[in-house]
Formats: sequence, C-alpha cells, structure tokens
Amino acid sequence: MTSVENNLLQIRSSFNDDEVTLVAVSKTKPIALLEEAYNAGQRHFGENKVQEMTEKHEVLPQDIHWHMIGHLQRNKVKFIVPYVYLIHGIDSIRLLKSIQKEAKKIDRKVNGLLQIHIAQEDSKFGFSEDELIQALDDGLLDEMSHVEIKGLMGMASNTDDNNQVKNEFLRLKAFFNQLKTAYPQLSAIHTLSMGMSGDYQTAISAGSNMIRVGSAIFGQRNYTSTVQ
Ligand SMILES: *Cc1c(COP(=O)(O)O)cnc(C)c1O
Repeated sequence: MTSVENNLLQIRSSFNDDEVTLVAVSKTKPIALLEEAYNAGQRHFGENKVQEMTEKHEVLPQDIHWHMIGHLQRNKVKFIVPYVYLIHGIDSIRLLKSIQKEAKKIDRKVNGLLQIHIAQEDSKFGFSEDELIQALDDGLLDEMSHVEIKGLMGMASNTDDNNQVKNEFLRLKAFFNQLKTAYPQLSAIHTLSMGMSGDYQTAISAGSNMIRVGSAIFGQRNYTSTVQ
C-alpha cells in the first residue's frame, strides 16, 4: 500500500463517510500522487490555483469533483466555471457577481460557498458576519440565477490553542444555523466546509461536514505561500 493510500484510510477511519466529505487538497502535488489517491477511491480534490486545477482537470479522469478552495481572482472565474464542482472561497460581492455573470454566459449553474472570516488574523479572506448579513438584507442573492449557494466555508486561526480553534469553528456553525433559519434563500444550505490537516477532528466535532485535507494525505508541500 502506498503512503497516500494509507493516509487516506487512516483519515477516513476517523469519521463516517456519509456525514463528512473529504476533499483531498492536492495543490503543488504531481499528477502521479493524485492518481494514487484516485486509485484508492478518492473523488473530491481541492486546488487553489486556477491554472493548476485546469491542467489537472484536463489530464485526470472526468468523474473527479474539482473544488476551488483558494482566493479566486475575478478575471479567472471564466476558466473554471465550465467544470468546477464547488467554489469554496466566495469572499466578496464582486466575486459572487462575476461567477453569476460567467455561469450565465454558458448557462451552467455553479455551486459555491460563502467564505466567512473566523480567524483572529487579518490576512484571511472572507466576509465578516455583519457584512454578509448586510449584503443579504440588501438582496445579495436576489439575482443569482446561476449560482447556487450550498453553505459556508471558514478557516480557523493558525494557532496551537485548540480551544480557540474549536471556538472559532463553533461560532461558524452557529452562524450557519442562524442564516439557515433567517433567510429563506438559504434554508436549504447544507455544506459547512471547515477543517484542514491540523484541525479537522476539532472541526468535525464542531459540526463540519466537509474537510479540506492536504499535507496529512500527500505530505508537506515545498512552499507555504499557497496557504491563504
Ligand atoms: C492548503 C489549504 C488547505 C489544506 O491545508 P493542509 O494543512 O495541508 O491540510 C485547506 N484549505 C485551504 C483553503 C488551503 O489553502
């Protein structure tokens, strides 16, 4: 058994497959490693660069679900809209409108998650809770005929303080529930994307049902600038 296969088995054994979707974050990793994961049954892959994801999409099997997990530039939306399975990082009104516009052009409905800023650090992207509520009250989703909001995504602070991480996740889960009850257009949201290699167990215990795990499957990456 390869180490990728072994890592996948080990991670999967810690939760129920029906309840949590594992997105294998393969950014910077070569095709051969993605194939190992694919051969071990993995079908959800996450990337954070448009060009890299598109190249991998073109050479790998067509039944893979591609997740765009990084910060997405508006001028690159058009390259992924034809095939992307889920855009996790919708972090601004302008980006949401660009996705709507490009998806409408090709008449495809694109699935997305609204990214909420939950970490203490300033550097992470996302709406604040207040900002999102304001935007929803202003009719943010009224003209989104070609974007389907499936849920929320968040990244906890990069800290060893497990308690803080847990509290950030719990807060996002509570906000998720609040939106679901308060906004009819969001009453069917289901996906809560939170948890990475270092904190996915904490995230699952706080209510995550989609985890984005990279280094614990594929090993350390050679550069860290890709983590946002
Ligand atoms: C890189 C990345 C991950 C995976 O990080 P690991 O620590 O390697 O598991 C998850 N989410 C986002 C948004 C990322 O950019």
